[in-house]
Amino acid sequence: MTDARAALKTVFGYDDFRPGQSEIIGWVLGGEDVFAVMPTGSGKSICYQLPAILNGGLTLVVSPLIALMRDQVRQLAALGIAAATLNAMSADSDVDEAWRLLDAGELRMLFLSPERLANERLVERLKRAGIRRLAVDEAHCVSQWGHDFRPEYRRLASVRQALGDVQVVAFTATADRATQADIVAQLFPRPPRVLLHSFDRPNIALNFQPKDKPRAQIEAFLAGHPGESGIIYAASRARTEALAASLSQKGRRALAYHAGLEHAERNRNQEIFLGEDGIVIVATVAFGMGINKPDVRFVLHADMPAGIESYYQEIGRAGRDDLPADTLTLYGLDDMALRRRQLAEKDLSPEQRRVEQRRLSAMVDLCDLATCRRQALLAYFGEASEPCGSCDLCKNGAALYDATIDAQKALSAAARTGERYGAGYLADVLVGEATEAIRRRGHDGLKTFGAGKDRGRRDWMATIRQLFAAGALEEASAEHGGFRIAPPGEDILFGRRTLTLRVPPPAAADRRERREARGTAAVGLDASAEALFQHLRKVRTGLAKSEGIAAYMVFADRTLVEMAERRPTDLESLGTVYGVGGRKLERYGALFITEIAQFPAENAG
Ligand code: ADP
Ligand code: ZN
Repeated sequence: MTDARAALKTVFGYDDFRPGQSEIIGWVLGGEDVFAVMPTGSGKSICYQLPAILNGGLTLVVSPLIALMRDQVRQLAALGIAAATLNAMSADSDVDEAWRLLDAGELRMLFLSPERLANERLVERLKRAGIRRLAVDEAHCVSQWGHDFRPEYRRLASVRQALGDVQVVAFTATADRATQADIVAQLFPRPPRVLLHSFDRPNIALNFQPKDKPRAQIEAFLAGHPGESGIIYAASRARTEALAASLSQKGRRALAYHAGLEHAERNRNQEIFLGEDGIVIVATVAFGMGINKPDVRFVLHADMPAGIESYYQEIGRAGRDDLPADTLTLYGLDDMALRRRQLAEKDLSPEQRRVEQRRLSAMVDLCDLATCRRQALLAYFGEASEPCGSCDLCKNGAALYDATIDAQKALSAAARTGERYGAGYLADVLVGEATEAIRRRGHDGLKTFGAGKDRGRRDWMATIRQLFAAGALEEASAEHGGFRIAPPGEDILFGRRTLTLRVPPPAAADRRERREARGTAAVGLDASAEALFQHLRKVRTGLAKSEGIAAYMVFADRTLVEMAERRPTDLESLGTVYGVGGRKLERYGALFITEIAQFPAENAG
């Protein structure tokens, strides 16, 4: 393991292993099969990359996305490691070069998609060349329980056999137990060594807001994150495009991404997001698997995610570099109803439906929670924890109150109007707003009309949403979006049951000031270090452009932050900075030393 630690520094420029890495690498080097479940950003790649560098032989890496494989090969090349990928888009010259290195025994890693491995002649040729181990990335793709099931992953067991029963190491960030057990059964001939890493990502802040004025809420959030790269998830293709267009108009560089875009445009937008600084990508869930950009500073859900599993995966794409990252989830009654409808329409086995339903209700519960969100999220994944102190509820608090009477008023408004109207209409009835429609139907003469004058319309909307979330109201029909009273609602209405709800949080507009006051320096540098950091980012962008690689492949944000703080003056001290390995020191060291030396320090002289 001393070799491994030395290589971690000289090749990757990191001082220490992160939790789990040294165990896994020890097992891999010892020839054991390994299954590791680690959250995004915990550093899975190094667990197969280091052994591939250290004990020679060829590691076959299976990964689901061509773009991701290309990215990793480029990143490894920047570190001076021989790696290649063969795919439908590879140039002939690259293919020839890969085989030349492979036959000469010089190639350390070969990245292939599972589709590619269906080619028996290729597998035969690989077997002759000699494969030391099979590393399976995004291993949850093998499982039907996973959120990214790929039938081609099912072939991997036979590929392993065809290669001569080689060692298998598999990695996933998917948290739930059903998927984990399935992966082990599918991929391993005998029980592997298993490492389960904590799912906590303490650098990711969790924030939720009920939708109020969503555009304004999104803009306020972005205003707190100027110049930062981030992802906005929206529930439909049309919404991603509309939102990207309106943000661009307001001067933010925002690009859309969804499965309906022309292939070339989609790829281009993804490349720009990966390669440049400060881009906002507005995407459907089609975006994200295998996006290993380390400096995504925020993830904003413009609509409530489809389930807690996907929520966790999606926010997990922020802050892989361990620097603070922010998230915000906007949610509303419409989202909850939409997600339930989508689930009802899906063609699923009864067992799958139960799994998906559990994931959706856990998501809904997370929205109107009154206690620490992180604690609830981790509890879902089977981890006990203390309140985090950093989520919106830990910071701002939330109060509960006995909402039985309010609930009865809302339910009775639904009952007396014939169980067919939506939340807006019911809220109007409750506050006594005699709209044209209400007058036309004579609902201004009902006993409940104005029975809720003591509270605002927004508060009633929140109560109705929570009644829906709690199953007291259900959709009357898929077409109209009105509500009828479900059995738990009857129990409340007739006083057989009480109900505790959250005191509605203040309107988003009231909160905006607080967010702005918090400032924008995500990395917490003082003014002169911040200025140097911004300067080094520009230097990095220039280098990345001229070399045709992504900015973070030159140096990660975290590396630049440390340079800006420590201002190294020679190669030796620069070499001790996070993320500066031998190859990068050689290549970029002198330039960065000069840039730092020439940048005016505030207190110079
Ligand atoms: P995962 O695949 O688990 O999501 P990655 O392998 O992409 O995560 O690693 C996330 C980031 O952390 C990368 O930028 C990687 O270089 C960095 N990293 C990995 N291991 C370490 C370490 N021991 N020390 C510091 N940074 C690390
Ligand atoms: Zn908390």
